[in-house]
Amino acid sequence: MSVCKERAWKTLEELSFIRVAGTQEELKAAQYLKNECEKAGINAEIEEFEIDMPVISKATFEVLEPYKKEYHVIGIGKSGTTDENGIETELVYIENAVDVHLNHVKGKICLLHGRLNPELSEKLIKAGAVGTISIAGSFYDEKSIADELRPRNTFGKGGQLPGLVMHISDAEELVRSHPAKVRMVLLQDAEKKGISHNVVATIEGSDLKDEILTLSAHYDSVPYSKGAWDNATGSITVLEMMHYFAKHQPRRTVKAVWCGSEEIGLVGSRKYCETHKDEMDKTIFNINFDMTGVTLGHEICCVSASNDVMHAIEYLAKLENNALECKLDTYSSDSTSFAGAGVPACTFARLAPMGGAQIHNHYDTMEHLDPDSFMITLNFALHFAKQLVNTTTNLIPRKFDEVITKKLEERKKWFSEEKDEKKKESEENKDEKTKEEEKK
Ligand SMILES: [Zn+2]
Repeated sequence: MSVCKERAWKTLEELSFIRVAGTQEELKAAQYLKNECEKAGINAEIEEFEIDMPVISKATFEVLEPYKKEYHVIGIGKSGTTDENGIETELVYIENAVDVHLNHVKGKICLLHGRLNPELSEKLIKAGAVGTISIAGSFYDEKSIADELRPRNTFGKGGQLPGLVMHISDAEELVRSHPAKVRMVLLQDAEKKGISHNVVATIEGSDLKDEILTLSAHYDSVPYSKGAWDNATGSITVLEMMHYFAKHQPRRTVKAVWCGSEEIGLVGSRKYCETHKDEMDKTIFNINFDMTGVTLGHEICCVSASNDVMHAIEYLAKLENNALECKLDTYSSDSTSFAGAGVPACTFARLAPMGGAQIHNHYDTMEHLDPDSFMITLNFALHFAKQLVNTTTNLIPRKFDEVITKKLEERKKWFSEEKDEKKKESEENKDEKTKEEEKK
């Protein structure tokens, strides 16, 4: 027996605890996965890497006039800081960051329609805004869920525009009540770092071992969430596939990568692709899993490669009587990091209908998962993976259609800003050092 529904269910339960990037619990989950591999005779390593772990010491927002009320908010990591007294000013609601709106933001705090992204941040800074509030959640959240605002950090350029996150119901109240004066405070140590981990397991191929198939899944969760669906399910799917390949040696090498810190910006998978740069050319494909096993759900496969590969997967699914919906796109999961490193990739997921199971809050437990639904994704992905690793010729063209290339370029811009900043900083430090030396 190489794939086992009962074992999968047991390990899924054992892995369903809160495991936030950079915490002891995340490390405990990494050790658990490594241990499960070793029990099955599979060689596994834990690879550590540094992450941003900004510490927010104070984040408050209150209306001062014409009424007094404090609202529940959290601060956006690396977004910026105010002083102890905060910023006292007017609030303006930005439906859309078009110029007519931006004419009115100077010196004000902007309540945003959506999320703060690097482009919007740049526009607002140029227009003279002094702070932002982003909206999260749904009107229909009960109180206990509404309070679980999900922490986030800014990508790329940060440190200029202090940002808060507020629940959408509070935002609605603010827009209706036209406050004349508000105050926001955000104090944080944006430079704090933490340690996160990837778990990497390898099963060497027999005769084509220089070619690699990677199976990946993130094993971290967000705060408040046990992350049973997102993404203990994907992690255990990979583990079960490794059990299979441990018993049936593949012709090509199979690597499992359980990624840490996905929830804070695909950090683990990006680090993996950097650290294993030399292997990227040899990696023929990446199969990623992010959220499977939900009882009421439908199977999707998001392919970041070419139409040819997308259609091949679709066809294979039809042959297996699987109602898999395939699309060509990038996905907000670790497959995007592999695609960004030049490796054709896909993510399998089983998504819930509207009103169905939820993630990123304390509802993400085993409650709406079921073993038979879990096996649908696992069985098909294993069937596909077996073909990839055992065919004489690699069937995946190393090619990305234009729609994918464009999206990957767009993403790279965000992260390269991050890198440019670091480069600039170290150069500035160098400059200061030489100046100091000159003084001497
Ligand atoms: Zn996820």
